[in-house]
Amino acid sequence: MEIVPERPSLIELDRHEGQVIEDMKAASNRPLSDPVAWLEEDIERNILLTTVDAMINWARGSSVWPAMFAPACCAFEMIAMAASRFDVSRFGMEIFRASPRQADLMITAGTLTWKMAPNVKRIYDQMAEPKWVLAMGSCGVSGGIFASSSYAVVPGYNRIIPVDVYVPGCPPRPEALLYGIRMLHQKIAKGSLARHDN
Ligand code: SF4
Repeated sequence: MEIVPERPSLIELDRHEGQVIEDMKAASNRPLSDPVAWLEEDIERNILLTTVDAMINWARGSSVWPAMFAPACCAFEMIAMAASRFDVSRFGMEIFRASPRQADLMITAGTLTWKMAPNVKRIYDQMAEPKWVLAMGSCGVSGGIFASSSYAVVPGYNRIIPVDVYVPGCPPRPEALLYGIRMLHQKIAKGSLARHDN
């Protein structure tokens, strides 16, 4: 006896076709897969994307080493800034270097005479690039009280070397000096390797 296979009814065929279409609709609404899903959670939490400029500027600004250089009375406020009360080491700057070759910041803490000027210029020239100068105190900015009365005083360090930040006062307090250093950090943060301005 011949066995005739049972054929699905038209209603069953319609149901099957409808189910296929519903499955396709559901698949098309599924969110795209996360492109970083393959990263382990620990790694994902420890990856930071940034630019080379931002990374280098952050490193430079966080480790400015001042030259050990203090020609006159402003030095006492600079020393106070470096001590525990004002704590410049918060900014990675506690290492004052006795050699200009290991320093990248000159803080002009005092009056500059023309007799000393060639030596100061030499110290600046020996500092490593990139380097910065912070003119501290009225004497550093413009010669201060000696500017008009003394033939021997340089009327501002910017007569012999380029100055990046000016901090006026006679003498400026350690807080003012710290403020000037924060200004310098902002300037460093805007530097660009492509523009060669840093
Ligand atoms: S600014 Fe005033 S405290 Fe500073 S070096 Fe000149 S005279 Fe001295």
